[in-house]
Amino acid sequence: MQDSEPTHTLLFGLTLHEGRSENLHEGCLEARRVRNEVNRLDDEGWDWNDIHDTVVDNATLVKNTTQLLVQKAFKEIETYHANKDDGWSRPFPYIHEPYPMRMNHNEGYALTVDDSGDVRFRVSCKPYNYVKGVLRGNPDHLERVKNALTSEAWRVGVAELVYKHDEWQLHMTVTHKQHTVGVPEEADTVVGVDINEDCVALAAMNRTTGDVLDSVVIEYPDIKRVRHEYFTKRKRMQKVGQTAFETVVRTEERDFVHDQLHKVSRDVTRWVSQFNDPVIVFEDLKDMRESINYGTRMNRRLHSLPFAALRDMVTYKATWNGVPSDDVKPEYTSQRCPRTDCLHKGRANRHRKRFKCKKCGFQDHADRKAAVCVAQEWFTKQNENVPSLETLPRVKKVRRTASGLCEEADSHGPIFGSGVHRHGTSAQGESQVREELKTVAPT
Ligand SMILES: [Zn+2]
Repeated sequence: MQDSEPTHTLLFGLTLHEGRSENLHEGCLEARRVRNEVNRLDDEGWDWNDIHDTVVDNATLVKNTTQLLVQKAFKEIETYHANKDDGWSRPFPYIHEPYPMRMNHNEGYALTVDDSGDVRFRVSCKPYNYVKGVLRGNPDHLERVKNALTSEAWRVGVAELVYKHDEWQLHMTVTHKQHTVGVPEEADTVVGVDINEDCVALAAMNRTTGDVLDSVVIEYPDIKRVRHEYFTKRKRMQKVGQTAFETVVRTEERDFVHDQLHKVSRDVTRWVSQFNDPVIVFEDLKDMRESINYGTRMNRRLHSLPFAALRDMVTYKATWNGVPSDDVKPEYTSQRCPRTDCLHKGRANRHRKRFKCKKCGFQDHADRKAAVCVAQEWFTKQNENVPSLETLPRVKKVRRTASGLCEEADSHGPIFGSGVHRHGTSAQGESQVREELKTVAPT
């Protein structure tokens, strides 16, 4: 295990209830003056201790806020000195735009969760000069800040107040205190992840034996359906020029997709937590974007779902549980045969959700197989032999839906807790499962 302090940056808009917007603006002007003053005195050759004391004494801001601003200005100058040989230019001695106010929690600003679950803020530019209101932002960030405010394990960090896109915003960090996250290299279980437009597939491999311990395909057809519906709706509105409604629709869609992805990411981390010292392995998205040879399907996949969002949520929740994540290059994971004595790759191996190797005849659910390939790539990355594939477990599918169906699912399946509807309980489902079994070719 290694010590690390995972820090997350969160972004919120501010809805003001009390105090004037002008106060915030004045604060940012004073912040600019502080920043410029530090640069001016440094330029005149002042000692940094003297700069610090003089500037802090003369500023009208909350003292702690001025100290943070002076530190930031020093850091800019230090960065310049450390990099000037590489051609970095000196920070501008005088900037003209308002400068972000930089504040410590419970000093320059404070957050609290009220009874209705809203997060309330208080920003004080000057002592005893408050602006108050509520934070708004994406549900994911709101959940994280609430967690940090109510949990002993998290620290609410520094926030910067900026005016951007016609609104006041708070950019802030939350940090886990003395958090221990496993080291990927020491993992016992390698969980490959394959994210698609309508499902995410997971395959867990034992590090030592290479056995595929278990796998699951979590389907989320509602996300795809709703995104398509909203897409059509927006197109129609654009045609008749209803831009205001369009924004509302976009927000609705974003909230829905976000909420669903959240639940899916929780399903993923819950499933992963059953294994011994796991590492979660994703395909490197950057690599996917840079590559142009993965074909239209890959490109469509990239743009058709907020992959980065789901991946980010899984990583975040896993880190919370002490589970590390890692990346591999997406080396034909969707097209390659997973049998180590074959490894044939070709686009023709895959047809929708079916994978059938044109060379050796191996068949499987295409996404589950892709997840197995991702795990295998991780062995390659560690310079370890990719274990030969003996047998694959039955393909299990669960469905995460937005309907009330999953809400009332009190009969918890052995795979997940509430909220996930298991397949394969009806007679038809059973035969489907049996068919999946048959198509997993014995080696
Ligand atoms: Zn093959």
